[in-house]
Amino acid sequence: MIPASVRPRQIPASWQQELAEAITRPQELAEALGLPPEALSAGAATSFPLRVPRSFVARMRRGDPEDPLLRQVLPVAEELLEPPGFGADPLQERAAQRAPALLQKYHGRALLIATETCAVHCRYCFRREFPYAAQHGEGERWSEALAAIAADPSLEEIILSGGDPLSLSNARLSALTGSLTQIPHVRRIRVHTRQPVVLPARIDAGLTEWLRSSTVPVVLVLHINHPNEIDAALREACAKMRAAGATLLNQTVLLAGINDEAAVLARLSQELFAAGVLPYYLHALDRVRGAAHFLVPDERARALAGALAARLPGYLVPRLVREFPGAAAKTVLTPITGGR
Ligand SMILES: *Cc1c(COP(=O)(O)O)cnc(C)c1O
Ligand code: SF4
Repeated sequence: MIPASVRPRQIPASWQQELAEAITRPQELAEALGLPPEALSAGAATSFPLRVPRSFVARMRRGDPEDPLLRQVLPVAEELLEPPGFGADPLQERAAQRAPALLQKYHGRALLIATETCAVHCRYCFRREFPYAAQHGEGERWSEALAAIAADPSLEEIILSGGDPLSLSNARLSALTGSLTQIPHVRRIRVHTRQPVVLPARIDAGLTEWLRSSTVPVVLVLHINHPNEIDAALREACAKMRAAGATLLNQTVLLAGINDEAAVLARLSQELFAAGVLPYYLHALDRVRGAAHFLVPDERARALAGALAARLPGYLVPRLVREFPGAAAKTVLTPITGGR
């Protein structure tokens, strides 16, 4: 019998359907990738379960348990390790809370946790333990955040984050940004999202209409870690967002065994540019419990940043940054550049 996951499938009617059909069982993922079930079952006991849309799985190499996209989403036994220095709230985000869903760390911009839902569960996510669920309902959270923003004229830019803000329906998104842009001092909206990457179908007509009709500039900061994530569907989604007036940037998390090689990072920058996206940040891993096996030591990270700078034009070199709680900005880690 052919397993359901490899039978020819109908194209899902909508991104919502594709989201609902995301893979959540390691066994199903193993079947889809032609791997033996035991190859993927080691990390079953986790409170942050597997979740990955099928269009992202389609970009993984079949039969390769070390595939760099697979490793970003597959729960593994190492997550249960608790090395010193890795905690539940490594960035002390609770200290930055201005309202239940509003975080401010930096001058002029604040981050609104628009929703807690994501299309994909990334194993290294630094908000994997943030207690969103313990907070109020979404509507109430938004109105408290909106009131705090309206009361502070220094807040020029609002960053929608989460979770993934593009998990919201177009109607909810428009309602939220409509309220934000009615506040006279809000001059820019930024959206931090991985959804166009893992679910390119999310960039539907309603979303591009939302971008086109925005009364303030919208910056979308995508989250792509490896060049294999960029396929024709993602390039098409990026072209649509650009045509609708959005500025597209990318942030990458530096991950051991996934993208910690200069050649991979260089290819990522080149593929991003070809898709109309500029590299913005390369983040040193935040020390969240469960992600220690992804850590790249600082010296190695700085050497990689130097190697990138030595082979690419400056505008294709992302800034290597680390977040230190209490700092006035993300801190740039100086690249180590060798001679020629
Ligand atoms: C990372 C972050 C930002 C964005 O910082 P930029 O340097 O402007 O990209 C803003 N607010 C919070 C709370 C953040 O964590
Ligand atoms: S999409 Fe972003 S917020 Fe969601 S799990 Fe991945 S890294 Fe975390």
